[in-house]
Amino acid sequence: ENKPRIVVLGAGYAGMMTTKRLTQQFTEDEVEIVLVNKHNYHYQTTWLHEVAAGTINPNQSRIMIKDVINNKRVEFIQDAVVEIKKDSKKVVLENQEIDYDYLVIGLGFEKATFGIPGMEEYAFSIQDVEKSRLIREHIEYQFASYKNDPTQDHLLTFIVGGAGFTGIEFVGELAEKLPELCKKHDVDKNKVKIINIEMAPTILPGFDDDLLDYAKKSLEFRNVEFKTGTVIKEVKPDGVLIGEEKDEIKAATVVWTGGVQANRIVGNSGFELTKGKVNVDPTLRAPGHDEVFILGDCAWVMNQETGRPYPPTAQIAIQEADTCAHNIAASINGGELEEFHFDNKGTVASLGGKHAMGTIFDGHKLYGVQAKAMKNIIDDRYLFMLGGPLLVLKKGKFRPF
Ligand code: FAD
Ligand code: NAD
Repeated sequence: ENKPRIVVLGAGYAGMMTTKRLTQQFTEDEVEIVLVNKHNYHYQTTWLHEVAAGTINPNQSRIMIKDVINNKRVEFIQDAVVEIKKDSKKVVLENQEIDYDYLVIGLGFEKATFGIPGMEEYAFSIQDVEKSRLIREHIEYQFASYKNDPTQDHLLTFIVGGAGFTGIEFVGELAEKLPELCKKHDVDKNKVKIINIEMAPTILPGFDDDLLDYAKKSLEFRNVEFKTGTVIKEVKPDGVLIGEEKDEIKAATVVWTGGVQANRIVGNSGFELTKGKVNVDPTLRAPGHDEVFILGDCAWVMNQETGRPYPPTAQIAIQEADTCAHNIAASINGGELEEFHFDNKGTVASLGGKHAMGTIFDGHKLYGVQAKAMKNIIDDRYLFMLGGPLLVLKKGKFRPF
């Protein structure tokens, strides 16, 4: 049979939702749909700061792919993508090579280190479940190590590099978790330092002033120290060097939340990168390859109104999936391709425990418990879209705190 074969790479927000929408766009005998992912589970990237701090169990962030994707309609291949051969329309996996007629790349992000010496080797990053689990275990180990050698104060210093949303959400979780670990290990709370370093003059550069002031006060009240206007120049095995003078701050834990770029497989496969990502056209296709769609954190999609690319967010990745599935159907069945338009539902950030803040819809500001409840609604809404009410019951966040 000669059904067009659509291959989706990566089961993140973009990949999962595209796969789901493709099963809705086509009937069983129209196309073959293949989903490739490293693991047999999908994870909530937007919860990884909680996994990394140890405030939720890693399993809560994971969803088995077979539980949400219809295996009669989709062939699932658990394997790691190594390279995309776009000119011969093949994908090299660790264990086999597969062909495609249409390709959707949703391989997500990795940390952007901007060539900062030592960043690759010595800094942790909140990137996937396993890397986040490593941070969680490492943190607890520092408490145990300190108890064995209380002269080593730097074991209890935790540096977070970058005060974008990831850095801010992560220090919020640390502010809740570390006092708990102090109790567990019988360590004086005042010995623990959480230091967030940001090169811009404020945290959350570009975000609403009232909201970022609120976040800063809430976190400072819980003993987070901010060093804004301070550049991390180098990372050492036992700390960081900051500013022009390269002053040293000793710390056994450095977590880098200073920025993201496309999964390196994309650049390594010959797609041209602009600031670490592929500049796709408004219909989400790669330049010169009408059969390749690139979504989520691997792509830059221009916001036609501002002339600037959309930021890499889950909300946008999920919405891009609709456009992508529609455009693949239009390409196969004949029809108009549509351009991607973002419907902004707002931005809400958790600050640990019952604390949160953000904007919804038209810029309406939310603080505290109200914001936290909204954050949970956003998370539950996604679970509902992906797996219906049963998935919400199994993995949802119901209570405001
Ligand atoms: P991902 O979700 O990263 O998925 C990529 C998938 O590809 C993964 O399943 C991975 O296993 C798979 N993969 C990777 N490499 C391979 C390979 N070689 N072979 C096979 N499979 C592979 N955005 C928001 O809108 N709201 C938020 O509240 C929010 N909070 C965040 C909190 C944190 C801590 C972080 C780190 C990010 C947050 N973001 C948030 C941003 C958001 O998570 C990303 O924009 C989003 O995950 C991008 O989706 P994606 O589908 O492109 O990639
Ligand atoms: P980011 O690029 O938004 O922030 C990185 C921060 O690190 C910037 O403020 C930058 O000035 C700083 N930085 C870079 N180099 C530095 C250096 N050498 N020294 C000190 N500071 C340095 O990255 P992110 O926070 O990981 O966010 C990535 C994307 O995920 C964004 O689009 C964000 O909106 C999204 N996200 C959203 C949420 C949410 O909506 N709740 C949560 C997390 C992430």
